[in-house]
Amino acid sequence: MRLLRPVQACDMPFSNPHGRFPAHDGPGTGAAASPYRPGGALDATTPSRDGTADAAPGDGAVARCDDLHRRYGRGANAVHALRGVTVAFAPGTFTAVMGPSGSGKTTLLHCVAGMDRPTSGTVWWGPTEVSRLRERRLAELRRAEVGFVFQSFNLMPAMTVEQNVTLPGRLAGRPPERTAVREALRQVGLGGRERHRPGQLSGGQQQRVAIARALVSRPRVLFADEPTGALDRRTGMEILSLLRAGVEEQGQTCVMVTHDPVAAGYADRVVVLADGVIVDDLDRPSAAAVSARLSRLGG
Ligand code: ADP
Ligand code: MG
Repeated sequence: MRLLRPVQACDMPFSNPHGRFPAHDGPGTGAAASPYRPGGALDATTPSRDGTADAAPGDGAVARCDDLHRRYGRGANAVHALRGVTVAFAPGTFTAVMGPSGSGKTTLLHCVAGMDRPTSGTVWWGPTEVSRLRERRLAELRRAEVGFVFQSFNLMPAMTVEQNVTLPGRLAGRPPERTAVREALRQVGLGGRERHRPGQLSGGQQQRVAIARALVSRPRVLFADEPTGALDRRTGMEILSLLRAGVEEQGQTCVMVTHDPVAAGYADRVVVLADGVIVDDLDRPSAAAVSARLSRLGG
């Protein structure tokens, strides 16, 4: 298990070209109006910005899994999608998960995000062992603690932007405050688009709506499964910059699956999966180093 120190803004090669995120002013302050929240509601102790946690269980990791296995099917037809994955995500870090197609990236994300149950192994969000929770409690906690962004946006076409952003909360019986929705949309650069429908927006704008939807509940971790996979390169970079800015300026923790070594360059760390196990864990590798590593895997 490995934890990274949170990245300082001055370390980062990518800045936020839009300037849409207010400066981070420390855990526990200034976060009320922001969809980003350093730390999370589960923590008895809030990790500090230098990456040390005050005795928080799980080494201060925002999310982690231990010896995760996920098998689909049984007997001769069984597919072992995950075969013993142990990984921890430190607060305020941006991790890219990479690996060949079929290596278990989506399965890992779904299991750690509480959207799928591992066959064995444990998942923790802060001090809470998620993999033990009953379905109802898990669903409640997932809505509060986890944001998820999909490659295909997964917006409801008949609903307005605002209705899409509020939908998960409304389904949970806890609609977000209108001001929180406006703020989330403003921060992804979509202020004033509340009444548009997804079909009236570009792909990049639709993914921004999906990010606002994921962040409006101020989750402790944002998971994104190939969030730029359906976008052209320039639009994809804008989305990556947006995710990066949330990490840098708001202390958001982000875990993103990507195929693209350039996209991985926005992350602090690249975890490489092959055949259901982690085969590498790289600290800010160059795009060239990532490409070389992946080509050795045939991915
Ligand atoms: P990746 O995201 O890296 O492409 P996945 O996590 O989607 O990989 O899949 C890992 C393996 O598990 C693949 O062999 C895939 O076919 C299999 N798999 C994924 N989901 C299911 C499922 N619902 N039923 C059966 N097999 C599955
Ligand atoms: Mg996948």
